[in-house]
Amino acid sequence: MSFQVSARKYRPQSFETVLGQEHVTVTLKNAIIRERIAHAYLLTGPRGVGKTTTARIIAKSINCLNPQDAEPCNQCANCKAITAGQSIDFIEIDAASNRGIDEVRSLTESVRYSPVDMKYKVYIIDEVHMLTKESFNAFLKTLEEPPEHTIFIFATTDVHKVPITIISRCQRYDFRRIPLDIIKAGLREIADKENITIDDKTLTLIAKKADGGMRDAESFFDQATAFSGDKIEYSSVIKVFNFIDEDIYFEVTDGLLIKDFKMPFMVCDRVYKNGWSFIDFFNGLLEHFRNILSVAATKDTSLLESAAVYFERYKQLAKSFSEGDLLRVMNYLSKLLSELRFSQNHKLRSELALSQLTGFETTETITGLIGMLGKTSAGETIKIERAAPAQTSTPPSEDEKKKSEPTVEAAESAVGLPDAKSGGPVPAVTAESAMQSASEATESNPASETASPYLPGGQEPETTPSPENDLIEEPEISMEFEHTPDDDIPQYEPETPIQIHNQLMSEKKFFASLSKKTPLPEPEKPETDPYVRFIIDKLGGREI
Ligand SMILES: [Zn+2]
Repeated sequence: MSFQVSARKYRPQSFETVLGQEHVTVTLKNAIIRERIAHAYLLTGPRGVGKTTTARIIAKSINCLNPQDAEPCNQCANCKAITAGQSIDFIEIDAASNRGIDEVRSLTESVRYSPVDMKYKVYIIDEVHMLTKESFNAFLKTLEEPPEHTIFIFATTDVHKVPITIISRCQRYDFRRIPLDIIKAGLREIADKENITIDDKTLTLIAKKADGGMRDAESFFDQATAFSGDKIEYSSVIKVFNFIDEDIYFEVTDGLLIKDFKMPFMVCDRVYKNGWSFIDFFNGLLEHFRNILSVAATKDTSLLESAAVYFERYKQLAKSFSEGDLLRVMNYLSKLLSELRFSQNHKLRSELALSQLTGFETTETITGLIGMLGKTSAGETIKIERAAPAQTSTPPSEDEKKKSEPTVEAAESAVGLPDAKSGGPVPAVTAESAMQSASEATESNPASETASPYLPGGQEPETTPSPENDLIEEPEISMEFEHTPDDDIPQYEPETPIQIHNQLMSEKKFFASLSKKTPLPEPEKPETDPYVRFIIDKLGGREI
């Protein structure tokens, strides 16, 4: 038997074996089982995904003498005649070469005759969008009320060119691109049947290039077999089809990570010498970053459109790039691709672009920064800084007292004065107790009368403790330092308890003022008027 291309040799002969179009085949099978057969079908979708194949299976299924669960037997006379294209009741027309009104007129004439051998007379019109406007119009009447036992099946890759008047008279089925995995499985099956050795990486390369079309994949496969024989090698496939070697994309990402400015020139030189298109190269690079992003976002390799050998590398790359950086690079590449179309010197522009990518600094996301803050506020560094506030409870030395602000000196001197008068030793008091004593002194101790004039600002200095002022309570200070979330931002070094406390108080006031600003007062909802109430509810309780 002479050589037959895989696409024909392994053309699916039953609904079950049509690849990746279960949403269509299952529906059609169920319809045929229930004998709900439409008089016109419109099958649309990209090239090579199984439209014509499905049309033929429909023709066989409804005419088969021994159908099994709506699947054609492929053994009976009718099935064999349709498969061979030798039945008078099975008419397959290519609309691209029979697009005129005369062809359509003779076709509609023949429609009137009943089927000779079979139950249904089936017309398959491929690439139906190629028909002229007049041809479509000539079809309308026949399509609206076709004779019984006549079925039209239209197939098209461009449904937008089919008039809506035609579409509305048909049952429409949209075919999808076949997923990469299914194409790979289909090719693997053919390879096994043909005893051809091919590894997953090479199979993926061929399947990817087919872009969702099984027929294209089978054509590539046949061509690779013709070149390589029984063992298809990755390198030979690259050579035969001049496909871009996927390893080059990993070279780019590796170069970006180590900021290797040699990489752009090496990579572009390779693309140039191999005669690869720079636009194809950057499209591939964009897809490569899309793969990294998919792993980074999903923490999974199930959405990867790549060979299994690359999965580990993608996992590693997903850890090396942040999502923000990946999006930035992809955005840059998208813009570059539109620029390249108008560029005169692709190589130069590409070298520049890759160099710019190499020079990209990594960005910090807000989430990342918040995460860093969260880490440090809970980390050890904070504990070290907190040692300073903890010292507030220890008595400040004389030197520290001198260095401190005048207000503090004044408060301390207010305590010190009576002791100086009595000649007793200065007691080792804490700053807080000193302040406490100062306030007591102003009330009870007669020396306070002499102490008061020493205070700067007269009788009532700002920091003089008073019953209303809640400045000096040690537990409160320590509590604030334990729980203030942003106390790891070193704004200034607190030296005295009063400074610390004042800072805390000002922070408290600041946050209190914030919290006052945020909630909007709930407007009063008038209960009486239901219309007003309805409108206010619709507007979220706010007035405009
Ligand atoms: Zn049959």
